[in-house]
Amino acid sequence: MKRRTTHRSKSSKKLVAVRDEAGRFVDIQAYEKEHRKDLKKKRTPLQKRKDNPNSKYWRTKADNLFSKLIRERDGECLRCGRTDHLQCAHIQARENRYIRFHPKNAITLCPSCHKWNYEKSLHKNPAAFFTWLREFHPEIADSIGKLSGHPTASGSYREAYYYMEGGGLK
Ligand SMILES: [Zn+2]
Repeated sequence: MKRRTTHRSKSSKKLVAVRDEAGRFVDIQAYEKEHRKDLKKKRTPLQKRKDNPNSKYWRTKADNLFSKLIRERDGECLRCGRTDHLQCAHIQARENRYIRFHPKNAITLCPSCHKWNYEKSLHKNPAAFFTWLREFHPEIADSIGKLSGHPTASGSYREAYYYMEGGGLK
């Protein structure tokens, strides 16, 4: 949820400053109104989400399992060798649904090599990242533009989850 700070108006009405993810001020609202909006956004019941094979419930389960399998496969940050706080990094964005769970579209990186380091991060400095990838993992670099036809490419998130749960990365 967005971070909010509350204030009082001159007439002692409770107000709330709405901020975005980065903490920047977006809007000032009557607290009551914001609170009512929150209540409306009540989560759908769990069973309903489980029954929908493409719900966020199944997407998160499939993403979490894929991430775990990728991290177990690699065991360390492939860029710097760190072994703590490992993350699964999609080389091509996971919004490309057809390769979201493709084992060749993801590698293990530490948070710095994945997102934060301006010199080498996959997201902060893709050019440097791909130079490194071509040098140290040429087989991944060569195949990354040609990935297709993975069994999870067109099924639901629930199918992708059970595919990986039954057979691991393949
Ligand atoms: Zn690293």
